[in-house]
Amino acid sequence: MDKNVKYIFVTGGVSSSLGKGIISSSLAKLLQARGFSVTIQKLDPYINIDPGTLNPYEHGECYVTEDGAETDLDLGHYERFSNTRTSQANNITTGRIYQNVINKERKGEYLGTTVQVIPHITNEIKRSVKLLGQTGKYDFVITEIGGTVGDIESFPFVETVRQMKWELGSRCAVIHLTLVPYLHAAGELKTKPTQHSVKTLLEQGVQPDIIVCRTEHPLYPGIKQKIAQFCNVKPDAVIESRDAETIYDVPLMMLDEKLDLEILKKTDTPVPDHLDLENWKNFVNNLKHPNGEVNIALVGKYVELKDAYKSINESFVHGGAMNQTRVNVHRIQSENITDKNVADKLKDMSGILVAPGFGNRGIDGKIEAIRFARENKIPFLGICLGMQCAAIEFSRNVLHLEGAHSTEMDPETPYPVIDIMENQKKLKNLGGTMRLGAYNCRLNPKSISFEAYGSKLIRERHRHRYEFNNEYRKVFEENGMLPAGINPEEDLVEIIELKNHPWFVGVQFHPEYSSTVKRPHPLFVSFVKAAIEYRKDKR
Ligand code: GLN
Repeated sequence: MDKNVKYIFVTGGVSSSLGKGIISSSLAKLLQARGFSVTIQKLDPYINIDPGTLNPYEHGECYVTEDGAETDLDLGHYERFSNTRTSQANNITTGRIYQNVINKERKGEYLGTTVQVIPHITNEIKRSVKLLGQTGKYDFVITEIGGTVGDIESFPFVETVRQMKWELGSRCAVIHLTLVPYLHAAGELKTKPTQHSVKTLLEQGVQPDIIVCRTEHPLYPGIKQKIAQFCNVKPDAVIESRDAETIYDVPLMMLDEKLDLEILKKTDTPVPDHLDLENWKNFVNNLKHPNGEVNIALVGKYVELKDAYKSINESFVHGGAMNQTRVNVHRIQSENITDKNVADKLKDMSGILVAPGFGNRGIDGKIEAIRFARENKIPFLGICLGMQCAAIEFSRNVLHLEGAHSTEMDPETPYPVIDIMENQKKLKNLGGTMRLGAYNCRLNPKSISFEAYGSKLIRERHRHRYEFNNEYRKVFEENGMLPAGINPEEDLVEIIELKNHPWFVGVQFHPEYSSTVKRPHPLFVSFVKAAIEYRKDKR
């Protein structure tokens, strides 16, 4: 079973947003490169069952796994770095832990005992961590603890780390990520916040094995020794993590700092001979030395938020590198687009992507942007709501169905070209009830999508309640908007493509969730290629 599995915990101190997800992903990548199989899990201390009902202002992008879990966006990094699929088991919140414990209590599983944080909650956390180890698929399970040590919410998680470290001995190691700030006035790097953060962890009974120091400047000689001395670790176990040009540099930086070797040492794991990072290095090289660049608009309503549309951005990074081109993603607020200014706002773009989303805000601007892309033959990719808006735009401006809409925005529309799915109608709960996860899609062999994927049957992840209304399929097709992909089980239109256009694709699913460094998503690769060609022709 999980006898030989090693468990690595990653905690954070001093501040949030130091990049625990990227450090975890980078470590996973390095261990993989040495031949180990690795999975990464995130424990989130908030009480929501999952982030599915959180709005992007609260929590950035909601990432969807193949098995239909709505999860933290860090899981996107895990998949992009490791090219290994995650699942519901890879993201657990306090809410879910409590829900499981309370369900067991109601079933009478704890009969006669008082249900408490220790041991019942911590045992449930432990069970969730070990579940991945027990699959027999992994040599290492890396578990990232969300939040910052010292937070009230994360106490039960840190307590679980303490217990597991005690139980597992050398099969468990803890990495603590902290900040070493640079004080300009003093001209110095400061280690005190790290010392305090490690003390907080020690108060909870956890001695970190490795301290990763996030810093804007190189750690000068003596700093590592100082941190080591104050925090009970060897200087080799103090790892510098300098701000990087791109997140994809971090595995290589961690290799230089020997983070992977430290982990192998701490877990008594023999160091394998080989290390295979050639593909990764080639990718980073392409990323840093493009032959050209191309401008693509990302039209959506959360443009000011860095963490919204995270996976779309990264998919452009992958798709760009594959084309040896830098993709400059210009985020354009859909609420500000009108028929008067659309030409001005989009004139320098060689491609237009309309983002996924919910609700009415910014819909008119999205539709205008799509009209502009369709009429001017600019490469267009519509994702989920973006695809639905493309159907609405086509109905109104090509089929002249005035007032055509999605019943999400206008329940009284005379032409419901996008309508609620039959099995969604009776649902009352919002959480976890959308059409979620991977579904089959059969491609039309005479489509752009087929050309991009190179296969007839694909599987892509979904997150929506509305769908293309099949009553309009025929008239769409007759007028040049083709159903290029169909879900064979339920006969749902998953892709629409415009015939007399160089590259116009709307997808009901989310291709951005499955793009990885190893396998850039074919639609993004093809879309970027089309944008490059468009720019060439325009010149
Ligand atoms: N709001 C739309 C629906 O629920 C689209 C969702 C999305 O873009 N993810 O169908």
